[in-house]
Amino acid sequence: MTVHSGSPFDSVVARRAFLARDARLRALSECDRDLVRLGQMPGRERWLEQIAATGGCAHPVYLAGGSQTFDRVTGELVRRYSTRDEPGGRLAVRCRNRRATRCEPCSRLYQGDAWQVVRSGLVGGKGVPGAVARRPMVFATLTAPSFGAVHRAGVCHRYRRASCEHGRSLGCGGQHTETDPVVGQPLCAGCYDYTGHVLWNAHAGALWKAFTDNLYHHVARHAGVGRSEVRRLVRVSAAKVAEYQRRGLVHFHAVLRFDGPSGPGEAPPGWASAGLLGQVVRSAALAVALRVPESAAVGARRLGFGTQLDVHAITSTGDQGAVDEKVAAYLAKYTTKGVDGAGSVDRPIRGAEQIASLSVTGHVRALIGTCWRLGGLVELAGLRLRAVAHQLGYRGHCLTKTRVFSTTFKSLRAERQAWVRVAKGLAPAGVDEVTVSTWWFAGSGHTVAEAEIAAGMAAERKRARDLARHYLIPGWVGGARRGSGGAERPRQAGADHGT
Ligand SMILES: [Zn+2]
Ligand SMILES: [Zn+2]
Ligand SMILES: [Zn+2]
Repeated sequence: MTVHSGSPFDSVVARRAFLARDARLRALSECDRDLVRLGQMPGRERWLEQIAATGGCAHPVYLAGGSQTFDRVTGELVRRYSTRDEPGGRLAVRCRNRRATRCEPCSRLYQGDAWQVVRSGLVGGKGVPGAVARRPMVFATLTAPSFGAVHRAGVCHRYRRASCEHGRSLGCGGQHTETDPVVGQPLCAGCYDYTGHVLWNAHAGALWKAFTDNLYHHVARHAGVGRSEVRRLVRVSAAKVAEYQRRGLVHFHAVLRFDGPSGPGEAPPGWASAGLLGQVVRSAALAVALRVPESAAVGARRLGFGTQLDVHAITSTGDQGAVDEKVAAYLAKYTTKGVDGAGSVDRPIRGAEQIASLSVTGHVRALIGTCWRLGGLVELAGLRLRAVAHQLGYRGHCLTKTRVFSTTFKSLRAERQAWVRVAKGLAPAGVDEVTVSTWWFAGSGHTVAEAEIAAGMAAERKRARDLARHYLIPGWVGGARRGSGGAERPRQAGADHGT
């Protein structure tokens, strides 16, 4: 390409060249044009470094500002960082979205951390004593009751001649595969209790809390010890993940563990067996009865868990580690799944008029519509049902745990940051240092070409990880790796109990 000097405003040759270049650019696709822009962007190399540091995050957040680190004792400035010298005066950081449908690289990181959180509670590590592996533990699945018959995978409800008041058969008589879109859909939408369904999801977090609050009473009862002394004898720790069933109800998979009263470092008394813990989980779950404040619109309702509880001991065999890792991977897998498992959308609903045009099943549309309708009621305002209509009413966290069950997401992040510092050849952040920082939002997301580049980086990383896992380091277990999909279901736990 000939380079024409001179301003297009006072040279005919330069003007022609400028217009020709402009025409060529306009002939390119949007992405190619954007690529040309990126190629000429000042500080492009540094921008690429930033995006690589986010792991190819699909929707990075840009921050402007800086930080200063001082020696706590002498008050001396140790180091300083400012985004002033960064491209565009800003720094890209991860979106940290845990949903794979929103950001694959960030969800993978979250999944790895979730795996560590669960795993360290099962086998120790990350500051948790290895002795926890020998503690009595159970794996439990707590499910919602039925709000109306839905089609189920395998042999569905047997055919019945009788029909409901809407003229629909009370049975199905069919056989459905796991992937059949009819699975989870009600036999009759007219008979289905959408209000009950949405209210259950909206209270799922409260139901779980009621369950864990009651655990000690049930331990006392099953062990025959006093309610007041039980906490001085034993401690129950738990971690749970929430998952959407095909019918659009949340259910919980949980690991529960008996420790001594001071926590993971102490063994529980001999009577605190996995068998007893199993009985405790059953009776505590079935005893949960949450009253929804009575209202003219929804009547009086009591919410509880369904009777289809699945509880079994995580048994200590010679292959204990493998079993535990399977359980950890199984739980971690759910943490990056959003409501897409139930076929809903992964973004909030903006207005009632949007509901009719969503690309979802009739059942999901009815659930979202019910959330919207109930969300408009003053007496249910506290449930924020419109804000979580796309989550079918559930607004809880995906993974939660009791305090001493295991390590935390926070300490895992701190560990990762320290590791990055070492890898970069920087001195570890000192304990005698204090950092003062000021950040402000300076944009988010990618342009078309930026998104392509980030996706390429993310794919490259994934390839490298898969390669390492399969060929280079047999049996390699690293942060985000083992938990990434493909985990087998521990026995039949987590079956979609749609009735
Ligand atoms: Zn991200
Ligand atoms: Zn069916
Ligand atoms: Zn009906």
